[in-house]
Amino acid sequence: MSKKIYDVAILGAGPAGLAAGIYTGRANLKTLIIEQGLDGGQIAQTSSLENYPGQMPEGESGTALIERFSKQAELFGAERAQDSVLEVDLVSNPKLIKGLMGEYQARSVIIATGASPRKGGFVNEDNFIGGGVSYCATCDGNFFRDSDVYVIGGGEAAVEEAMYLAKLARKVTIIHRRDRLRAVESVQDRARKVENLSVIYNSVVEEVNGDEILEEIKLRNVVNDEITTIKKNPADNLMGLFVFVGLNPNTGLYEGQVELEAGYVLADEDMKTNLDGVFAAGDLRKKNFRQVITAAADGAIAANSVRNYLARLDGTEYV
Ligand SMILES: Cc1cc2nc3c(=O)[nH]c(=O)nc-3n(C[C@H](O)[C@H](O)[C@H](O)COP(=O)(O)OP(=O)(O)OC[C@H]3O[C@@H](n4cnc5c(N)ncnc54)[C@H](O)[C@@H]3O)c2cc1C
Repeated sequence: MSKKIYDVAILGAGPAGLAAGIYTGRANLKTLIIEQGLDGGQIAQTSSLENYPGQMPEGESGTALIERFSKQAELFGAERAQDSVLEVDLVSNPKLIKGLMGEYQARSVIIATGASPRKGGFVNEDNFIGGGVSYCATCDGNFFRDSDVYVIGGGEAAVEEAMYLAKLARKVTIIHRRDRLRAVESVQDRARKVENLSVIYNSVVEEVNGDEILEEIKLRNVVNDEITTIKKNPADNLMGLFVFVGLNPNTGLYEGQVELEAGYVLADEDMKTNLDGVFAAGDLRKKNFRQVITAAADGAIAANSVRNYLARLDGTEYV
């Protein structure tokens, strides 16, 4: 284990963790940000972002925006560890973090490990992940050029990603379980103008089938229980089914230590959890609105709370 004790360890380099790192770095706190993959978390999966204040007004990709977050955090001195956190002791002092590559100690922790896409829950889903079923349009959309693509969901992520896919695919069909979409009106207005994009309402995917790759989607109409089978166009190599039906918080690591509700971390308006010196930020937190701007705001607030917490411990509090 490294002997170094950081002032704060930030777990996750999505918008919440990086924003926290900018603020703790700028406050001259010895900061370590631990990220298991590429920076950006969920937002790195989207090719088109248009609602983060101050971003390129004509729209830009999530990765382009996040690149600037990362640079800014590093500019203010945040250190980085490329590691997957496997275990934490958030009660001890200093806090202990065990990763695949090493162990770390910090006087305080900001947990910002975000959330992961929820599965669709239909029969045979797992058998076709990577063979037609996907949870990331930016990552996999290109495989479905000029093919038929189906998108499950009705929220903003689903409709935005369907519009992105419509630029690549021959035809995109959103499958939504309700009789209207949930995405904000302006997004729906844009979607209505996309010629090769349509919606099947009141329907859920029950089952998918195929010989190694996805070849058939069985839909159930939730009003009359009628089953419809959609088949892959024989002239195409692939058909796609993209799932955007919400999130599961990445909080398993903290179970039994940090107070959770339905898997989400309970934190107050200063992002304090039930544990001394442990703060939470971003999509893993119980809250109503999960976006880049709210994740970044959580990160900034958590960082400020860390600063106050350490100043109190050190007796350097500004009064
Ligand atoms: C397809 C899609 C489109 C979206 N479009 C928009 C949009 O247009 N506008 C908008 O404002 N929001 C959008 N969002 C929502 C936005 O991306 C999220 O609200 C935001 O990314 C949440 O940030 P976060 O930092 O809390 O978590 P995340 O983005 O989930 O980041 C968490 C990070 O923690 C890391 N991590 C997790 N577990 C570990 C571990 N054990 N060890 C180390 N690292 C770990 C992950 O790898 C990840 O990088 C979209 C989301 C999706 C999925």
